[in-house]
Amino acid sequence: MQLVWFKRDLRIADHAPLWHAARLGPCLCLYVYEPELIHSQEFDASHLSFINEALAELDDQLRKVGGQLTYRVGRMPEVLDEIHQASPVEALWSHQETGNRITYDRDRRVALWAAKHDIAWHEVPQNGVIRRLKSRDGWSQQRSRWLEQPPAALPESIHSPRDVAFERQRTAADFGLTETEKTDLPQGGERAGQQVLQSFLYQRGEHYSREMSSPVSAGNSCSRLSAYLAWGCVSMKTVEYALSARQRELRQRRSGGRTPSAWLKSLQAYQSRLSWHCHFMQKLEDQPSIEFENMSRAYDGLREDEFNQQYFEAWCRGQTGYPLVDACMRALHRHSWINFRMRAMLVSFASYHLWLHWRPTALYLAQHFLDFEPGIHFSQFQMQAGTTGINTVRIYSPVKQVLDQDPQGEFIRKYVPELSEVPNEYIAEPHKMPVMLQSAAGCQIGKDYPKPIVEHTMAYRSARARIDVIRRRDASRTEAKRVMQRHGSRKRMRGR
Ligand SMILES: Cc1cc2nc3c(=O)[nH]c(=O)nc-3n(C[C@H](O)[C@H](O)[C@H](O)COP(=O)(O)OP(=O)(O)OC[C@H]3O[C@@H](n4cnc5c(N)ncnc54)[C@H](O)[C@@H]3O)c2cc1C
Repeated sequence: MQLVWFKRDLRIADHAPLWHAARLGPCLCLYVYEPELIHSQEFDASHLSFINEALAELDDQLRKVGGQLTYRVGRMPEVLDEIHQASPVEALWSHQETGNRITYDRDRRVALWAAKHDIAWHEVPQNGVIRRLKSRDGWSQQRSRWLEQPPAALPESIHSPRDVAFERQRTAADFGLTETEKTDLPQGGERAGQQVLQSFLYQRGEHYSREMSSPVSAGNSCSRLSAYLAWGCVSMKTVEYALSARQRELRQRRSGGRTPSAWLKSLQAYQSRLSWHCHFMQKLEDQPSIEFENMSRAYDGLREDEFNQQYFEAWCRGQTGYPLVDACMRALHRHSWINFRMRAMLVSFASYHLWLHWRPTALYLAQHFLDFEPGIHFSQFQMQAGTTGINTVRIYSPVKQVLDQDPQGEFIRKYVPELSEVPNEYIAEPHKMPVMLQSAAGCQIGKDYPKPIVEHTMAYRSARARIDVIRRRDASRTEAKRVMQRHGSRKRMRGR
């Protein structure tokens, strides 16, 4: 029996392990709910409901070709042991995973188990990540070569084994989790992912490059594909192929006399982000310790001993007194998604203004991002918190960002209703409203909406000075060279 283990690849299209396994004989398709992962700080019931929707659709698709998905709850490789005893496994098939410490350790246990039982474990690359990469030089070319190999075909038929018990899906309640209260969450699964992809490429994406940074327009103008990529409902290759087809079509139109230049520019920007996806994941693949440790060790000790729990809680609750920061956090609580610029601002505010270490804030946002992808998440967190040593230190002003990204306060008023009657003039800094105006706007600062938790200019200056002291040290420069050599992009990354 061939065993196909689904992890973060919840799809039937472009699933090379499934395609190979299905051709070799009886094939068991398995999904394992792992309590260690489900009860980890990064996980949320909203993740589970997205996963379950994807699994239900996957099961339907498998059944159409004679297969079926079976579920198990438990620790790996114990689950494999149970299955192997019921029906001997000839080979194990899965995609490679670049995950957190829990999945890394689990994969090592599975590898040992497979070796002990003389079972071949075929792990197929996905996400453009190159395992056991010796050097970053040439990585981009290797990724391009991987992309040139066409996506895997759909399996024509699957022969399900008879002697293995098929178990049911599990819900949040099965793990003692409260069902998610989040609303407007995207539907999980391959079909929904394909629809989101098509609507972006053919309808919504024209002004992506211009509109991606404002939270007012980003919800519609960004691809919104990240959760589908993170849980593998749509593969990176599928997205790249659909994108190339659309670009070809647009270029042909250009040669026919009409210039869809906004479209082409936006899709070029989108293509770069897809490669960043892989680039950031590669960092965690190459150095799993960056989930816990500063990428540049020169920054060790910078924030560790100064964690202010009250600041952290105010940030988590969206009660910092900075309207755009609070609106972003509250939007996230509702939809599990926020655009890149606002993620960067949330992290910058937590890391510089509140001087919070990135690890607890990263865990909090991981739980609230439906698209939590460890490789991107921890690398981006360190970049925005200034601990990579190789990126420009960007401290976003939570006031200027309002003027740049939400000058009419549209987004702020939607998510911070206490401020709905505050005039535009004060929407970035409502605490500056005269008392009379506060009464007229029905928003008394300090009562209905908090005063700013810290004073922006002072917090900015202090953070900048503390970071600069470290940056200027010789040891930091040496460390930066090491980090650059190991993880740095060999192309210059512009924009974000
Ligand atoms: C602190 C922080 C944490 C983040 N954590 C995650 C995460 O856990 N999972 C995640 O998928 N993205 C993460 N991002 C990157 C980015 O914000 C999201 O990918 C993006 O907002 C998702 O929305 P979208 O699919 O509409 O993106 P689009 O703007 O449409 O981008 C297209 C795709 O490119 C990739 N991408 C876009 N921007 C980046 C980037 N800066 N770095 C790497 N890949 C990128 C994503 O796969 C995304 O789906 C994080 C960014 C920051 C600043």
